[in-house]
Amino acid sequence: MPRITNLLTAGPTLSFEFSAPRDKEGNARLSRALDRLAHLHPAFMSVTYGAGGATRGPTREVVQSIVDRGVTAMPHLTCVAHTTGEIGAVVDAYEAMGVENLLALHGDLPESSTELSAGHFQRAVDLVAFVREREPWAIGVAAHPEGHPRARSRTEDLDHQAAKLRAADFGITQFFFSVEHYERFVDAMAARDCMTPVIPGVMPPTNTDRIGAMAAMNGTEFPAALRSRIDAAGDDPDARREVAIDEATRLSEALLAAGAPGIHLYTMNFSEPVRTIARNLGFGQ
Ligand code: FAD
Repeated sequence: MPRITNLLTAGPTLSFEFSAPRDKEGNARLSRALDRLAHLHPAFMSVTYGAGGATRGPTREVVQSIVDRGVTAMPHLTCVAHTTGEIGAVVDAYEAMGVENLLALHGDLPESSTELSAGHFQRAVDLVAFVREREPWAIGVAAHPEGHPRARSRTEDLDHQAAKLRAADFGITQFFFSVEHYERFVDAMAARDCMTPVIPGVMPPTNTDRIGAMAAMNGTEFPAALRSRIDAAGDDPDARREVAIDEATRLSEALLAAGAPGIHLYTMNFSEPVRTIARNLGFGQ
């Protein structure tokens, strides 16, 4: 399976993020989205991993269905509340599936998982080191252009992010809505001698309530002008989708013009609006 490090050298990449479904209906929707988006020949597709006990399992099945569709897969893996033995077993299972890319994360435990012990890993960078020892894979990490929400100071946070990115092969960002956040972050990394490619994660802003809540949790600015523009479209889902497509397309174009090595689209397990955004950007023609 191609490594993302090699894919990045071939020009801007297109990639999609999915999450493991929770029920039969979600499974059918995900399957449809995978089929439709596989036709665009993305560089890779990623699958999130639930940091808390019960939601950990299904990631592997989704990764297998991506591999079965002939697309490069990148599982996410969180290390919080995991032992080295458990992580080793997950890595071995992926190795057996032919996976050669991983997004190494710390993860946040849901409140319902307080019974889980802290585990053997302190930070995502420890997981990067652990996997590096075992596998010659391309390893990515999370980047937080507007800072990690629990960071004590902006400067310390940027220092930690630079150290983590230097240890990794690439980064993928939290979603954000202004190209300046990406440009400032990449400049701050360069000022710390960190030239690791950082792929921006782009979220089409379809659902203002849901995205507003996620943005508040991540410390992401959700500009009032953007929220008003979406709300002005009223209750018509098609009109709201049009605005989301337009906003995400324009942000992605600005990011590529600013030198971003690719665009990672958050799908929420729907093929639209990301398929239209990808086409607007000239991918999958
Ligand atoms: P780390 O890099 O370990 O950072 C965690 C905290 O520790 C930060 O506050 C950081 O500033 C601080 N820190 C780092 N190093 C040091 C140090 N040396 N000293 C002191 N403090 C330090 N979560 C999931 O559960 N599942 C997923 O699949 C998932 N996918 C994601 C994908 C992307 C692209 C992104 C951006 C996030 C994703 N997350 C996911 C969320 C992520 O797990 C959380 O943001 C989590 O709080 C931080 O994870 P991290 O890997 O960035 O952690």
